Amino acid sequence: MAGDLTGETTELLQQMIRNACVNDGSPESGHEQRNADALRAVLEGTGLDLELHEPLPGRTTLVARIEGRRPGAPSLALLGHTDVVPANAEDWSHDPFGGELIDGEVWGRGAVDMLNLTASMAVAVRHLAVDGFRPEGDLLFIGVADEEALGSHGAQWLTDHAVDEVRVDYLITEAGGFPTHTAKGIRLPVITGEKGVFWCILTVRGTPGHASQPLRTDNALVKAAEVVRRLAEHDMPADIHDSWRRFIEGLDLGPEMTEPLLDPERIGRFCEELPALGLARQAHACTHTTMAPTVMHAGTKVNVIPDRVQLQVDIRTLPGWGRREVEAMLSDALGDLAGDVEVHWQFADPASTSPTTTPLWDALERVARHAYPDARCVPFLTVGATDARFFRRIGTVAYGFGLFSERLTFDQYASMFHGIDERVDVASLGLSARLWDDLAREALG
Ligand SMILES: [Zn+2]
Repeated sequence: MAGDLTGETTELLQQMIRNACVNDGSPESGHEQRNADALRAVLEGTGLDLELHEPLPGRTTLVARIEGRRPGAPSLALLGHTDVVPANAEDWSHDPFGGELIDGEVWGRGAVDMLNLTASMAVAVRHLAVDGFRPEGDLLFIGVADEEALGSHGAQWLTDHAVDEVRVDYLITEAGGFPTHTAKGIRLPVITGEKGVFWCILTVRGTPGHASQPLRTDNALVKAAEVVRRLAEHDMPADIHDSWRRFIEGLDLGPEMTEPLLDPERIGRFCEELPALGLARQAHACTHTTMAPTVMHAGTKVNVIPDRVQLQVDIRTLPGWGRREVEAMLSDALGDLAGDVEVHWQFADPASTSPTTTPLWDALERVARHAYPDARCVPFLTVGATDARFFRRIGTVAYGFGLFSERLTFDQYASMFHGIDERVDVASLGLSARLWDDLAREALG
């Protein structure tokens, strides 16, 4: 049985990588219909209830359901996205869309983000259906399109237009479960929340004039340079929130790391000076609302003093921050330049979190111990965005999880998300497939 799960997941993953459902953010990209078809071929004829949604041509999402025996019993969805981000073949050691199996690893775009989990979820649900598993509450598998852009043709569309079909009590999606060794045993991070995303365009105004006489002109570009400097240097207070505290305490890093990482007065300086750059950035972003100026458009001609600059800023917020708090932070950072700057919001989506005091958390920890007997789960707030946020908004408890072997380190995995040489070992695929099978039986009975 376990061997079947691993082999079938490997084959399905290879096929899904080769389908190259590349989402470049444009509505006509993605072509997730190809992966929806692959999933349907695996799930069809097993007695599962299958629904397809296609909000735009080719942007197909598949919803499979095993109906529960008891109406109103807690329901669980396994949610996997079927799209991937672009990959530049020149930078890779192997074809990013070849799905090759090399030395026990499947190579290609999506191997860890997250076709690996999507494939393992589909195979596990297929096996449950074939076994005649009849849970108490509904079990759903959703192969969703368009996660890698904003979810507007995928999870957002589903929760807006088919909410009654996909409303569940519990949901698991990407990612987590990268085993981390500590003196007290293995720790498995579970993503329990994600930061908010606020994107804005700041328009900085000046007065046009001849660039041959710059003295005492009102140059919008010079002003914008000062705006950029103030935003970049704005001192944000640290927030040592509960999931960060539990994550750091769980990792058992020793007092010389743990104490500064949990001290709001020390963590900022500590991250500035920590030689491990990846960890420093991550620790800072997990405990601070951040602002990054990213795009600037200015000027019309070399001999004209510019009267207008547009500056785009990527702001990522901690739980508890709404638009009002973000606006107050911006005006605080801009200081006496606030009057010269107009703020236009492109996108505003606050942070979302799920509690850890749930039956799903306990069930996850129990079934994860089938793979790692001394494991404990630790909560983690991710700085990126996943489809979980749409479901948290409709009242679902949503976590990011999966299981991985110890073949690759957490750092290696982290660099493969949207990076080069993305790959996953076959043992990890088997661990995840078995996890979903066990979790469905444990959580839904
Ligand atoms: Zn992903």
